[in-house]
Amino acid sequence: MDLMEKLTLLADSAKYDVACTSSGVDRPGGKGLGNAVAAGICHSFAADGRCISLLKVLLSNQCIYNCRYCVNRVSNDVPRAAFTPQELAEITLQFYRRNYIEGLFLSSGVLGSPDHTMELMIRALEILRHQHQFNGYIHAKAIPGASPALVEKLGLLADRMSINIELPSEDSLMRLAPNKTKEAILSPMDQVAKGMVENQRALTLYRHAPRFVPAGQSTQMIIGASPETDYQILRLASSLYRKYSLKRVFFSAYIPTASDTLLPALDTKPPLLREHRLYQADFLMRQYQFQAEEILSKDTPNFNPFLDPKCNWAVNHMDFFPVDVNKAPLEVLLRVPGIGPISARRIITARRSCALTLEGLKRLGVVLKRAQYFITVRGSTGLSPMGRERVVRALVDPKAIQFGMEQLSLFSPAPSIPAIEAGTPLEQALEEAVSCLVSNL
Ligand code: SF4
Repeated sequence: MDLMEKLTLLADSAKYDVACTSSGVDRPGGKGLGNAVAAGICHSFAADGRCISLLKVLLSNQCIYNCRYCVNRVSNDVPRAAFTPQELAEITLQFYRRNYIEGLFLSSGVLGSPDHTMELMIRALEILRHQHQFNGYIHAKAIPGASPALVEKLGLLADRMSINIELPSEDSLMRLAPNKTKEAILSPMDQVAKGMVENQRALTLYRHAPRFVPAGQSTQMIIGASPETDYQILRLASSLYRKYSLKRVFFSAYIPTASDTLLPALDTKPPLLREHRLYQADFLMRQYQFQAEEILSKDTPNFNPFLDPKCNWAVNHMDFFPVDVNKAPLEVLLRVPGIGPISARRIITARRSCALTLEGLKRLGVVLKRAQYFITVRGSTGLSPMGRERVVRALVDPKAIQFGMEQLSLFSPAPSIPAIEAGTPLEQALEEAVSCLVSNL
């Protein structure tokens, strides 16, 4: 198999991995080749929203494990290939020089054993970093079960590392990924988290100490292959952020690749709306100071399909509003639908010099279409009194209805979202959603 055929096969095998984003690391080019900037690798997203700017490839799609949801599992009859470390380094450099990519996202099936696979990955990165002084961004996936010494070595070569949590519970992991254990996943995660803290200490003492995983670690879990609720998933994400200082938890809508009694049927559509809601909730936890338990609970364990999680929280806590934008502290402003972290900070700065008006809020980036029902400006809302139906109608996410009605294929181009026309099934669904939400308030 020539290099191009290998590349086609191994890049295609890596497409289910969603955990690659910007670098968040600053490193000037200097004498070597390439550089990485804190503003992030210049990344773009495919029609399905997946990041495609890095050379995202597997070292090998051969795997001795049999994770039931994975296209590369040992029992699946698919063409197999593996790069040598030299080939992988060569290809990365060629792509980099041609300006196709700004970095590398490297993962692999388990080739022989976790340690052997990690050694090959490390060799490839050593060729890039040491022989060619490649300074571009590298995101590497550690192989669960590899020895701590190899995890350490990989962490000194990569900018970001990730170890996939895979599934939202230990029970599902045992059923669907029988060769992996919770311990084999969490222990390298813990090692990386502690290593990063120690590295920070070392860097304050010795400015030139080698950097260990400078762009932090992330993880990925598959959504929809197992029965856990959104609440369980969100709580797990929250505890992973807390315990292992993760930069990101990525959620990947399960795409059926195998007919298996333990998995959803082959014609099941990937739960894209659910994935979207999880990202919205994740954003609320990371940027808006929400706790997982405020977004969902044991009694309401799944997302409202019609409202994004922030709007859902707002309509269920109407006694919290209205908020006076000229007085409310940052954490209160962040609870208002239509006010994001940037506009909230702008409000705090702007109101130091003068009292804000509705017009002023608009200029600061506040989405008044949503926010108007939840704020007071100079003592009044400036708007007619709100009714529940009016509020809900303004907050319902029409895209969500369209998503729900025609689930999208992950690898087909994104369709344009048409306006909802009167008398169409979409309009009917919107009306049903509004009346259902109003009656539940
Ligand atoms: S370890 Fe599991 S998820 Fe990873 S490539 Fe092998 S079969 Fe797939």
